[in-house]
Amino acid sequence: MIRKTFSVPPLGCNCSIIGDPVTKQAIVVDPGGAPERILQEVRAMGLTVVSILHTHAHFDHFLASGAMKQTTGALLCLHPDDLPLWDMLETQCRMFGVPYVPAPSPDYWLKDDERLSIGEIEGVALHTPGHTPGSMSFHFPAAKLLLAGDTLFRGGIGRTDLWGGDFDAIEQSIRERLYTLDEQTAVVTGHGAETEIGRERETNAFVRA
Ligand SMILES: [Zn+2]
Ligand SMILES: [Zn+2]
Repeated sequence: MIRKTFSVPPLGCNCSIIGDPVTKQAIVVDPGGAPERILQEVRAMGLTVVSILHTHAHFDHFLASGAMKQTTGALLCLHPDDLPLWDMLETQCRMFGVPYVPAPSPDYWLKDDERLSIGEIEGVALHTPGHTPGSMSFHFPAAKLLLAGDTLFRGGIGRTDLWGGDFDAIEQSIRERLYTLDEQTAVVTGHGAETEIGRERETNAFVRA
């Protein structure tokens, strides 16, 4: 698996490019901003983006999605429970004082436990609501890799005081869907440092096993 993760403005969302070294197919997860930077990375790695996946529809995770789709032709994928948030992008930008960039509607609705195929790489989309109603985590078992979006952070969890946030739901998602994964699974979080499932299970300040 080819993977590159880097933070993008305006809020330092971690954007990931995951590619199959054999077929050169790739997905981009959470293009939160700086589309030219993301496209430059994709080109430098010689990859073709087939899908653009979103862990959730907070503005800082999809402000570059429209530009990415326009250039690559890739499908925009989202869990349907986050469509109301996607549709209030302008309101979200205004509330956080960030310039509004319109995004086209999602093209494809992700489902819980849906298989993800990137060339020869297999993954699973996990519905992990709580931070938002449609929050997803993307698991790649063979690579022991989880992209958790804003559901799980190193030492913390996503805030649940924004639109549709639910503490009980995020706690249940983390316990039942994430802490049940192999403890050596590396976790790419939505913002900041990466972590591991085993580490969070034992030391997370909010949800422990
Ligand atoms: Zn968020
Ligand atoms: Zn975020």
